[in-house]
Amino acid sequence: MIFGEVLNDLSKVIFPPQCPGCSEILHPFAGQMFCSLCNDKINFIKGGICSICGTTFPDSPAENHLCGDCLEKRPYFSYARAVFSYEDIILSVIHQFKYKRNISIGEMMSSLMADFSFPDIDFTDYSLIIPVPLHIKRLRERGFNQSLILARAIGEKQQIPVNFSLLKRHKFTETQTGMHKAERKQNIKKAFEVSNKEKIAGKNIILVDDVYTTGATVNECAKTLIKAGARNVSVLTLARVFQH
Ligand SMILES: [Zn+2]
Ligand SMILES: [Zn+2]
Repeated sequence: MIFGEVLNDLSKVIFPPQCPGCSEILHPFAGQMFCSLCNDKINFIKGGICSICGTTFPDSPAENHLCGDCLEKRPYFSYARAVFSYEDIILSVIHQFKYKRNISIGEMMSSLMADFSFPDIDFTDYSLIIPVPLHIKRLRERGFNQSLILARAIGEKQQIPVNFSLLKRHKFTETQTGMHKAERKQNIKKAFEVSNKEKIAGKNIILVDDVYTTGATVNECAKTLIKAGARNVSVLTLARVFQH
């Protein structure tokens, strides 16, 4: 065992990992991320999903098909896939990461997202990862872009470059919490711009965000990227809100 590993193990004993859901102290070497109680409350997305936007169909058989929204108007992205349903423990964990600046929770969630196998996503098809940008004003308030932290973990794992300056958010928008789908769509319209079209031309891009709520934000980003010449945009988020 090399010295670095000894130090690492020692630090795990002195500062044992805590469950991000309830702060319970975990066994230092069991390799679990959540305690078993919290683990039981986590909802991974399962069953049939919309082949494009990834929404679930709780009342129909577990087969993929298109949802009503995607049938009516196809989004600009090809796929949207998420790891978790945005509720209970996952909601509180993302809040701690995003609003309470708990970076160690962010790192845990990032490595979990990077290790996840998203249905229909073959990473070898993509050559660029772009996080959903924050407006500079929001970035200053928060101090970091949570989507960039997630994007970096995926980029490292999949060996795909991450670029956080090609897509910019030039319009400051009020928080979208509490807004309905149509209001969100209007609010986010023309909020983004591409700084260098040559660098995205013809590329298959993975767009990363923390939470997919109505899809208005990621769809506006995908629209901006496609109109600027990207070939294809797929969206990966840590969690997703389900309207049913
Ligand atoms: Zn717990
Ligand atoms: Zn859909």
